[in-house]
Amino acid sequence: MNNNVIKIGIGRIYEIERTLKDYGVSGKVLYIAGPYVDSLYGNVVRPQIKAVGEIKEQAVEYNTITYAMEVAERVIATDIACIVAMGGGKILDVAKYAAFISKRPFLSIPTTMAHDGIVSPIAVLKRQDGKPKSLGCTMPSMMVMDTGLIADCPLHLIQAGIGDTISNYMALKDWDFAVERGKDEMNGYAYMMSRTSLDALMKTQFDSICPEFLEVLANSLILSGIAMDYAGSSRPVSGSEHLFSHALDYYCDKQNLHGFNVALGTVAVLKIIGEDPSWVISYLKKFDVDINPVNMGIDEDTFIYCMQHATEMRKNRYTYLHEADLNEKKLRLVYRELEEEL
Ligand SMILES: [Zn+2]
Repeated sequence: MNNNVIKIGIGRIYEIERTLKDYGVSGKVLYIAGPYVDSLYGNVVRPQIKAVGEIKEQAVEYNTITYAMEVAERVIATDIACIVAMGGGKILDVAKYAAFISKRPFLSIPTTMAHDGIVSPIAVLKRQDGKPKSLGCTMPSMMVMDTGLIADCPLHLIQAGIGDTISNYMALKDWDFAVERGKDEMNGYAYMMSRTSLDALMKTQFDSICPEFLEVLANSLILSGIAMDYAGSSRPVSGSEHLFSHALDYYCDKQNLHGFNVALGTVAVLKIIGEDPSWVISYLKKFDVDINPVNMGIDEDTFIYCMQHATEMRKNRYTYLHEADLNEKKLRLVYRELEEEL
């Protein structure tokens, strides 16, 4: 039996039956999809699952920890052999966590590319108070990423994935800094994977969101996920810009996509530490990734508060922000520059 399978490209959605069979799946298969995605592609996926085993269905309505545990309980109690989930981050995270708890193989079919969590060993689910919590779990055993199908998803769900990959730059810079300060350890291979994920995207010859570009982005997101898995933490792809993003999740009324928050965090922190972020800005503009804080509904005071409280969001993640000058006057200036330049 294979340990893991990754298939990327146009038309891969038709390879689900083959993938499950090759993995040795038989018996009951739990199929999880949101109603909208299911209305688009359910008729392609269902017959392929039925050709492998007995299909059971679960409509995911919540992305809470409690709900994911309920799904896991159903899987264990009714002897389901495998979970197949199709959709965006929320659905995949519920399925990923349920598969982890129930120790079942999981076939992931992402329909968006909004962040590197689609392939990571981390599921973000909501606690009882509605706040998000990152939970360690395992990588999907099988992944079928049909770039033809993803090309049809709303554009911002691809642009956000560009933002999340770009943030690897700041994350790696923070990692170097933390190691230099004796606050963290280096994992050279994981570092290199994250760097390669970033480089593949930055150096691509494509300058529009075409199917070929989507394959590059898919590879980058997956490589970021593998970097996390290899490091045993999100350190290779998550630094100060992610701390800022977590603060926005907590304190900003307007919720934006993770990938936009971390891209904004990357540009903002680079400015705060005195590094020129113009190459990041021009890359994002090439793909019309709009991270202007005003357009994102992040006002000046919220921006300042989140930047000043970012380091409290996570223990043991030492970054440039831990030593940067975060006085209000300076942050107001940074905000105004971002407002103008982004
Ligand atoms: Zn991220």
